[in-house]
Amino acid sequence: MLCETRGDLMGVTAGERCVLVPTMGALHPGHLRLIETARATGGPVVVSVFVNAEQFNDADDFNRYPRDLEADVAAARAAGADAVFAPATQEVYPDGADAVDARLPGVASGKGLEDDGRPGHFLGVVRVLRRLFSLTACRAAVFGEKDWQQLLIARAIAKGVEIVPHPIERDPDGLAMSSRNRHLSAQEREEALAIPAAVAAASDQGTVSEAESVMGSIIHDAGGRVDYATVRHAVTLDVLPGDTQRQDTDRPPARILVAADFGGVRLLDNAPWPAA
Ligand code: AMP
Repeated sequence: MLCETRGDLMGVTAGERCVLVPTMGALHPGHLRLIETARATGGPVVVSVFVNAEQFNDADDFNRYPRDLEADVAAARAAGADAVFAPATQEVYPDGADAVDARLPGVASGKGLEDDGRPGHFLGVVRVLRRLFSLTACRAAVFGEKDWQQLLIARAIAKGVEIVPHPIERDPDGLAMSSRNRHLSAQEREEALAIPAAVAAASDQGTVSEAESVMGSIIHDAGGRVDYATVRHAVTLDVLPGDTQRQDTDRPPARILVAADFGGVRLLDNAPWPAA
């Protein structure tokens, strides 16, 4: 069940084409739903658990990222995973991370979104995904829509791996589930509900600029620091003109994208605009 090397993993998948669920561990119920989607996709399900230092642009964030492999193995097994692949850094980057192709697809950069807030983050993401796709030889991989930009990047670099999206899983209060939520105090968590509230309010606005302005105010008034709260082209992530109308049936597909900080915890959310 727990495999630390490619060789161990090949012993479990036994030549069958697997479905990968890449994670950084600290599995929450949202991750477990992704594992169920992987099961439904067909083939042995491999959950990778690897806290990839390459994608952290902040050493503190890396050091305090929650880790609990034993609990992850038990939870993944209960959700239907056939293997948990938890490789050492040496297994993922035997020749060093710099040896891995770090070319970024266009959708990753220059957009005023994640790449601006977390410089270098997507370089680390593309490196680890290229290595995980290669090491596991899976035919498909499940990605959460919570990390919308990451999902688009995975699609762009997948090369023969089918990318299966899974919708955002939320706690009953509406906050998107995240391994980082455990760092929120009760009060910060209450305040952070401004994020899903802002996303919901944006859905009702007539134009892109109205939606952006409403989101900014709601998050700011709740004490959050807005990294971005915007409505973009859903696939290219290009900026949309501020007067783009919600009701305009000829406009490109649009997506609300939010990143905001509450109590030093950076949280993400997104949704189609208007809501599906
Ligand atoms: P992480 O371990 O946080 O890097 O996430 C691993 C995978 O789980 C990524 O594909 C995430 O997009 C996905 N994921 C994390 N949280 C959620 C959530 N609340 N809803 C849907 N997918 C999620």
